[in-house]
Amino acid sequence: MTAVTRAYIGLGSNLGDRLATLEAALRALDALPGVRVVTVSSVYETEPWGGVEQPSYANAVAALEVGGDPLSLLRACKEIERALGRESGVRYGPRTIDLDILLFGDEALGTPELTVPHPRMLEREFVVRPLLEIAPRATLPDGRTITAERATEGRVTGVLGRLRAPGGGPDGTG
Ligand code: AMP
Repeated sequence: MTAVTRAYIGLGSNLGDRLATLEAALRALDALPGVRVVTVSSVYETEPWGGVEQPSYANAVAALEVGGDPLSLLRACKEIERALGRESGVRYGPRTIDLDILLFGDEALGTPELTVPHPRMLEREFVVRPLLEIAPRATLPDGRTITAERATEGRVTGVLGRLRAPGGGPDGTG
């Protein structure tokens, strides 16, 4: 039997129809072999960060069950970003879709291509708020509980609602 790992992905979009893009990304993740989207958080509106003048973001976190390894998941995420994210003429512009692997089971990885847990996740309110919404007892690989205390960057300004999750019900369970 293949091992199944619970992973958490952060999704963000600040161009075009942001909610439709987030839903398309969830469908694409769910369609990957060995991957199932289990739960999806509410969508949070987030002020733009990084000092660049750009529209506000729509952010969410999804829980996945993954039959494969973290690097394969990262490469699949990059493929989905490419498929959904092309914006003609805007070379360094804002993102149509950004997918980050936040946690991959209790694995800790530090390679040039992939660092898990995501190195900046604890500082970002737009990651920690939706993550704690769907996984209030989430822990880091060293056993520490994840809390909102340090999450003072990427402030959330509101809740935009819920996405249609692949699999039926509002949280993918129906
Ligand atoms: P960004 O465009 O800022 O999302 O950065 C993407 C790059 O970060 C990718 O090329 C990945 O190889 C690398 N990366 C390292 N760790 C992670 C992670 N946990 N999730 C997503 N990308 C990662």
